[in-house]
Amino acid sequence: FPSHDNDFVNNMTHELKTPISTISLASQMLSDKESPMANKNLDHLASVIADESKRLSYQVEKVLQMSIFDKGKMNLRLKEIDANELITTVVRNTLIQIKNKNGTIVKNLDAVEAVILADEVHFTNVLFNLLDNGIKYSKGSPDITLSTSNRDNNLVITVADKGIGIPKEHQARIFEQFYRVPTGNVHNVKGFGLGLSYVKKIIEAHNGKIYLESELNKGTTFSIFIPLKRS
Ligand code: ADP
Repeated sequence: FPSHDNDFVNNMTHELKTPISTISLASQMLSDKESPMANKNLDHLASVIADESKRLSYQVEKVLQMSIFDKGKMNLRLKEIDANELITTVVRNTLIQIKNKNGTIVKNLDAVEAVILADEVHFTNVLFNLLDNGIKYSKGSPDITLSTSNRDNNLVITVADKGIGIPKEHQARIFEQFYRVPTGNVHNVKGFGLGLSYVKKIIEAHNGKIYLESELNKGTTFSIFIPLKRS
């Protein structure tokens, strides 16, 4: 990682240290012999540990994903995937998080031809990264819409939010590794600036393209174009 990039190092340190200290706090509480068992909310502590370790491994996974790219090797395991089905699953797994923030998530699966050749793991990560950003960069409760459609010989997937938006002057750079819109920190949203560069690389490895439309304080829409298999 670029050692001169203090913001990046600060963000990464924050993202990794917070779950570690939460987990260690929870384990201290569990092993504190002074406090009677009845006072310990075991279920709560267990779920805190589970959530925080998930978060930790997700962050580590992100860094690993990028280090794989940097070595220049990428093996896609392509298989036929129904994007409508994949999105249905992804939405189902995000529902708790969205409901927890009183948000909504809507899907419009209009694509009639939704089967693409894709790497399931990487493609799922792409959708989660975009969804995650839609949630992270919403001001209040997130309102996310996922859509599929067919255009020319492409499957089009859009992920739209009604969040903080991205100022015009930053839009060209957000797919760069480590790039973050400066206000990201003002809104106290922590991140590495890795998610979108990963997304773009994966989409391009699938011969696809990704575009964004965004307006400050109105929201952001990412559109992914993936060529359909010709038979
Ligand atoms: P991270 O979220 O970890 O900073 P990303 O590469 O996923 O990294 O995003 C890069 C930057 O683009 C973010 O820091 C944020 O400023 C901006 N951004 C990404 N997605 C959105 C979105 N849906 N709404 C507003 N800003 C966004």
